[in-house]
Amino acid sequence: MSQPIRKIVIAGGGTAGWMTAAALSKLMGKDLEITLVESEAIGTVGVGEATIPTLVFFHRLLGIEEPEFLAATQGTYKLGINFENWRDVGKDYLHAFGITGKDCWACGFQHFWLRARELGLAGDFGEYCLERRAAEAEKFTHLPNNGLNYAFHFDASLYAKYLRQFSECHGARRVEGKIDQVLLHHDTGNIRALKLDSGQELDGDFFIDCTGMRALLIEKALHTGFESWSHWLPCDTAVAVQTEAVAPPIPYTRSIARESGWQWRIPLQHRVGNGQVYSSSYQDDDAARQQLMGNVEGEPLTDPRLIRFQTGRRRKQWHKNCLAVGLSSGFLEPLESTSIHLIQQNIVRFLRFFPHTGIGQVEVDEFNRQADFEMERIRDFIILHYKVTERDDTEFWRYCRQMDIPDTLANKIDMFRETGHVFREGNELFVDSWQQVMIGQGLMPERYHPLVGTMSESELAGFIEHIKAEVDGDLNRLQNHSDYLVSFLSRHAGSGA
Ligand code: FAD
Repeated sequence: MSQPIRKIVIAGGGTAGWMTAAALSKLMGKDLEITLVESEAIGTVGVGEATIPTLVFFHRLLGIEEPEFLAATQGTYKLGINFENWRDVGKDYLHAFGITGKDCWACGFQHFWLRARELGLAGDFGEYCLERRAAEAEKFTHLPNNGLNYAFHFDASLYAKYLRQFSECHGARRVEGKIDQVLLHHDTGNIRALKLDSGQELDGDFFIDCTGMRALLIEKALHTGFESWSHWLPCDTAVAVQTEAVAPPIPYTRSIARESGWQWRIPLQHRVGNGQVYSSSYQDDDAARQQLMGNVEGEPLTDPRLIRFQTGRRRKQWHKNCLAVGLSSGFLEPLESTSIHLIQQNIVRFLRFFPHTGIGQVEVDEFNRQADFEMERIRDFIILHYKVTERDDTEFWRYCRQMDIPDTLANKIDMFRETGHVFREGNELFVDSWQQVMIGQGLMPERYHPLVGTMSESELAGFIEHIKAEVDGDLNRLQNHSDYLVSFLSRHAGSGA
């Protein structure tokens, strides 16, 4: 089993394939021979256009310049997601990327806010979060010291194209062709080569499966197994359509709950991405397509396209000499735009665990343990949106309200309801987001930390007002998002950035 890894073959050239090629070629290109095979005839899933702030750091790691990337992908800034009709029809909240208020050593800001609210001293929870206020005001500006947390919306096909160019510049080789067969070593069961329909064989020491939901290597060849989570995340279909932009881009994604799922709206510079995600057990495809087309703004630029998916994860992300990255590794549904984050996590983790001298089972097991933990915590966070709702107007929402949930999530919900506490487990992705979404979905703690009760009313009022004044001050430093984007791109145009 132990042999040095020199030749890496990446199967698939969607977002996952090209992000992998970009990172490996840039960071390890001198030591590796990297080949990516993709099939234009098969194409990519064509969605996946909203991200979370971790992508900013991935780009920094690779030395990708933001203005160049935004110009190449028609990108916009994203400060959060507006959840409309999720708590109940007509009730909205915005889950923003920032931190709300200020924690103290003993407890989180929500405890101070709960008491202040009880005394009539505080406004809405989101008033104390700069990113939330900026999103609502449609503002954006880069602030010093990462003072404003942000992510991007981008055109997925342009992103793959951009990263292809980046990867090829750093030495990755692209092969056009359809993988027909995955050839295994008889003795070890490891992958030996990919055989293309042209008859060409691509042999390698290590293979990265980025073939999307087909999972040609990790599943069809290595039979790694899939754990379904569809009983917790019941949506299994999406219909997607691109439309003309009718207004300047806003700096947040819209997620609008519908009778049997939800609709996304992702604003780019040149167009808008739209889609309806639903459970086919509760809504048929024609009805979903019609509902989506009745709710888009602007002329359609594409025909509505149906995408089936299953929520869940591959039983092992890394198995033998194959790593699954992207949709081949599983899918959690797009509600919190976490898939691209999970792609980069598997890539960065692979670089950390890179089997320079050969594959060791201890490292493979640790890799899989970390990846499992990460995915489970994100899964819980997404289920939260469906489970904690006041909606009971349709069969779908009644199912969601009543469904069993993982114990890990049940504990988090009980802890928050009974005590107001949220504790971050390990290095799970979401932190402030838990409070924002639980409160946004209507889950109010029954009590707050006793320490807060020891503050006088005027002390508490002063504390809350001080935070609000700071957020107001920062908000005044921000410009209109669309104006800022135009001037930021034109300032950097032609700078070779
Ligand atoms: P794909 O894009 O499917 O790419 C697969 C590649 O493999 C293609 O190049 C294909 O040609 C190639 N291939 C397949 N079979 C063969 C073969 N036999 N021979 C040669 N090549 C082959 N993620 C987010 O982070 N944010 C979002 O907002 C978001 N929204 C989503 C909405 C929906 C409805 C869905 C389904 C997913 C969404 N995702 C989102 C997930 C995101 O789209 C994916 O994580 C991302 O696009 C990566 O996909 P991929 O590269 O794994 O697969």
